[in-house]
Amino acid sequence: MEQIKRNILLNPGPSTTTDTVKYAQIVPDICPREKEFAGLMKSLREDLVKIVHGDLDKYTSVLFCGSGTINIDVCINSLLPEGKKVLVVNNGAYSTRAVEICEYYGIPHINLTFPVDQLPDLAVVEKVLQEYPDIALVHTTHNETGTGICNPIREIGALAHKYGAIFTVDTTSTYAMRPINIEEDNIDFCMASAQKGLMAFTGLSFVVGNRAIIEESKNYPKRSYYCNLYLQYSFFESTGEMHFTPPVQTIYATIQALKEYWEEGEQAKWARHTRVFNAINDGLEELGFKQVIKPEWRSGLVASAIYPDDDHWDFERVHDYCYERGFTIYPGKISTTNTFRLCALGAIDEQDIKDFFVVFKEALVKEGVQIPVIYKK
Ligand SMILES: *Cc1c(COP(=O)(O)O)cnc(C)c1O
Repeated sequence: MEQIKRNILLNPGPSTTTDTVKYAQIVPDICPREKEFAGLMKSLREDLVKIVHGDLDKYTSVLFCGSGTINIDVCINSLLPEGKKVLVVNNGAYSTRAVEICEYYGIPHINLTFPVDQLPDLAVVEKVLQEYPDIALVHTTHNETGTGICNPIREIGALAHKYGAIFTVDTTSTYAMRPINIEEDNIDFCMASAQKGLMAFTGLSFVVGNRAIIEESKNYPKRSYYCNLYLQYSFFESTGEMHFTPPVQTIYATIQALKEYWEEGEQAKWARHTRVFNAINDGLEELGFKQVIKPEWRSGLVASAIYPDDDHWDFERVHDYCYERGFTIYPGKISTTNTFRLCALGAIDEQDIKDFFVVFKEALVKEGVQIPVIYKK
C-alpha cells in the first residue's frame, strides 16, 4: 500500500483520514442492490446507533446520500405534525441553517436567538415553551461549529420533553468525538456525516433516532420526497437498502472507519481530541491570540481565534503559507467579529499541532505580524 501525502486539516470537516480508510474505497465494482451490499449496511446502521449508546430496539439509524446538512433538512421537514411549530434554540450559524430550512419549507417556527458567544438562557427557553403549547419539535446544535461553543443539550432536551415536544440535535461536529448518550442526553434524534467524527468521507449522512417517533411520522405532512425520513426508514426496514443509489465507496470507507473507531475506543479517541484541542489552545495562547468562547464553554473541538489588530495580519496569506506546507486553517463564521478556526477533528495528534504552530509562527514572522499579537482593546 503506497503512502498518500498526509495533510493536516484543521478546518471543521472534512477531517484528516487514515490511509487504511482512504484505501478501503478501492474495491471491485459492485451493484449496491446485491445482497452482499445490503448486509454491509445492516451492521453499519447498528454501529451508528451503538456509538451514541442507543438500545437497538428503541433507536435506529437512517442513511442518506448527501452532506451533513441533509440531516437537518430531513429532521425538520419530516418530524413536525400538522398545525404544530418548530422551536430553534439558536446561538450560531448551524442553528440558523435549521431556521432557513423552516423558511424554505414554510414551516411555522420560532427562531429564539441568543448571542453567538453565550449559552442559551434556559429560563427563556422554558418561557417560550410555556407560552406556545403548539411547539412539537425543539431543535438545537450541540457544538456550534461556527464558534466552538458547546450547548447544554441535556437540559434543553429535558425542557422539550417536559412540554411534550421532541428534541432533535445537530451533533454533526461532536458525534463519534465527544461522547454522547442518546437516552441520557434526552435526545430523540441526532445526526452526523461520515466525514467528521468518523474520519471517513463526504457523501454519507445519517440520522440516529427514536424508531417509534419515526413510525408515528408516517402520517405527518409530507414536505419532501427525497428527504422524507419515514420513506427512507421504511425502505430500509423492508429491503435493507437505501431507497436510491447509495454512496458506495464512502460506505466502504465508513465501515473501515468504524472498525478503527472501535479499535481506538470512545474514551481514548475523546482523550486524543482533547490532547489536540489543548495543544491548539496552548499554541494560540503562546502567540497571544484571543478566542471568542470562554474556556469553560468550549466544545473541546473548535477554537475560534480573533484576528489581531495588526495591519500586517492577512488571513489569506497566512492560510496559503500553511497550506503549501500541508496544514489547512479555516475562516470563522461570525458576522460581527473577524475570526479564524482551528479544529481538533480527524486522525491527528498533539505532535501535528506542534508541527503546525512552527509553520504558523513562521508565516506570522514572514508577514511581519507582531508577536505576541496585539489587540487595540
Ligand atoms: C459540518 C456541519 C454540518 C454539515 O455541513 P455540510 O457542509 O452539509 O456537510 C451541519 N452541522 C454542523 C454543526 C456541522 O459542523
